[in-house]
Amino acid sequence: MSTKMKAAVFVRPGCIELVDKPIPDVGPTDALIRITTTTICGTDIHILKGEYPVAKGLTVGHEPVGIIDKLGSAVRGYREGQRVIAGAICPSFTSYACQDGSPSQDGSYLIPSGQCGNHGYKATAGWRFGNIIDGTQAEYVLVPDAQANLAPVPDGLTDEQVLMCPDIMSTGFSGAESGKIRIGDVVAVFAQGPIGLCATAGAKMSGATTIIAVDGIAGRLTMSKRCGADITINFREVDPVAEIMRLTDGRGVDVAIEALGTQGTFESALRVLRPGGTLSSLGVYSSDLTIPLGAFSAGLGDNKIVTTLCPGGKERMRRLMGVIESGRVDLSAMVTHRFKLDDIEAAYDLFAHQRDGVLKVAITP
Ligand SMILES: [Zn+2]
Repeated sequence: MSTKMKAAVFVRPGCIELVDKPIPDVGPTDALIRITTTTICGTDIHILKGEYPVAKGLTVGHEPVGIIDKLGSAVRGYREGQRVIAGAICPSFTSYACQDGSPSQDGSYLIPSGQCGNHGYKATAGWRFGNIIDGTQAEYVLVPDAQANLAPVPDGLTDEQVLMCPDIMSTGFSGAESGKIRIGDVVAVFAQGPIGLCATAGAKMSGATTIIAVDGIAGRLTMSKRCGADITINFREVDPVAEIMRLTDGRGVDVAIEALGTQGTFESALRVLRPGGTLSSLGVYSSDLTIPLGAFSAGLGDNKIVTTLCPGGKERMRRLMGVIESGRVDLSAMVTHRFKLDDIEAAYDLFAHQRDGVLKVAITP
């Protein structure tokens, strides 16, 4: 077996390049996965543009589907050759942050390197692949805390069917879950990219009976109807805030999900919220946010603003794959383009410029 592998690494803002890297050594609690399918996330585009900093030379990507190549000596309950996924977020599930209900904010593995206090809380540090450690846009990836993070793929599900579980589906659904959507709720979802589409599907699964989806691309709005939207609004044609207030007789929505990460979408989500409603924010923001005083009722509107980083771990992945296996949701139509790893720079170019109606790309060896 070769000791080298191909990997897409961050070189400098504007440049992600395919290079040769050593295949990583497997520590006792790790698992080495041979990647069979991965994808590019909107967050990778923030990294590519230099809007979200990562170390030079880091392998990017955080959505692995693959086969266990080598198991660490301490990892129990799996076998080499097994098909698995792992969440984009790989918490240890042993830290204070994990036990206190915030596994995605688990930086306990950074304690030895002094990058966080002995408590181990570090914002976003549960996201390791392609952020702090080498990621999945490569021939192999090392999964840390493998016992907690490897999730076997049920027989009969294809790579593309489970490709959304590690991040997009987990994140999108969490927007509905963190918003605490109740049966009968009216929900607005701002932006219908892959995350927003999954938030729409999650809102439907959570019992929302009117789902209003907002985007500026007609193809995405068509897809959002397939994911469960009842009403779609193209913000290039009508003012979504005025239209949602009209549709709700001035009441506003119970839950507004923000799925892009801009001032405009955040502000619109706040402006359509009924008093006492919840703004559930999923986007990755690249600049400071301003809260409009009127929409915020001067701070007296009983509103809740919650943010969520993608939930990870094998139990989360098992549940999401169960949703797909049961046929409740089918997200495979979201894979619009396919590339070989060798052509990943072309895949980035297509995805970053949202050409040709792209939603998600599947990258295979
Ligand atoms: Zn992502």
